[in-house]
Amino acid sequence: MKRTALVTSILLSLGLAGAHANAADAELNLYSARHYQTDEALYANFTKQTGIKINRIEAKEDELLERIRNEGANSPADVFITVDASRLAKADELGVFAPVKSMILEARIPAHLRAENWYSYSTRARLIVYNKETMKAAQVPTYESLADPALKGKVCTRSGGHPYNLSLGAALIKHNGAEKTEQWARGVVANFARAPKGGDTDQIKAVAAGECGVAIANSYYLARLMNSDKAEDKAVVAKIGAVWPNQNTWGTHINVSGAGMLKHAPNKGAAVKFLEYLASDEAQAYFANGNNEWPVVASVKVSNPALATLGEFKADTLPIGELAKTVTEAQRIYDRAGFR
Ligand code: FE
Repeated sequence: MKRTALVTSILLSLGLAGAHANAADAELNLYSARHYQTDEALYANFTKQTGIKINRIEAKEDELLERIRNEGANSPADVFITVDASRLAKADELGVFAPVKSMILEARIPAHLRAENWYSYSTRARLIVYNKETMKAAQVPTYESLADPALKGKVCTRSGGHPYNLSLGAALIKHNGAEKTEQWARGVVANFARAPKGGDTDQIKAVAAGECGVAIANSYYLARLMNSDKAEDKAVVAKIGAVWPNQNTWGTHINVSGAGMLKHAPNKGAAVKFLEYLASDEAQAYFANGNNEWPVVASVKVSNPALATLGEFKADTLPIGELAKTVTEAQRIYDRAGFR
């Protein structure tokens, strides 16, 4: 990643590597695997409010985690921020986080969206989309229904090994048990319209094109298409319907963006301030809306036409930390079932 290398070298030349020598908490070193344009305003606003300068390193989560581990006790990183519960769980398993006790965070972020060593700041739902010409919403009211033999040759999804599908698998294990989840995974594989390929947006487009009858996709990919001005995106949206799965049972599976303070953070005071800032009304609106997600702070409303159109739904309230820890089991089950 050229851009990352450039950002890194600039930060290094600015003296990020020497952050330990600076007065503590005058700056914040943020390792981010979340890259959205609106995040610029989010960070600038923090500096304006607190006078704390943010040095940001952006890269893929695996690279950042590797870097944090290699840097060890000398790591300048204060906060790690990324998307997907399973990735946050992986960071946690590697022991890179330090717990943060904060009355502000406890008051503002719902309990099920707080893990032991990290916090969620936005949520996204895993939806089922269907082709309105060939399918009916009533055929796919639940994730479980994707394994219904009646859907043979109709189901599309990205790979089973992707964190989004692993997190969904973890939720299914928690609610239905491992055995049923394995049967489910086998049923879904038997129903594939094609071998998994591409991202969630590709699945939505394949449903619109009629290559698949139904697909699983994160809400923000659909919302992005719904908010798009491009004629080709509008054409896709016109062809598909969306279902909030499991409304009569455990609720639609949600995943999160989240962040935690690092164990060797040189600026722990600044890190806590930043984590608390992310739960503020203003930051929540930026953080969630920038990627068509929902804020975790219930009182914060974002104005987003696509999310307004999608409307209200019952979300799964499984504790996100528990869900994240079940991802490894989901991977084993998918492997056995041939969901790759
Ligand atoms: Fe994504």
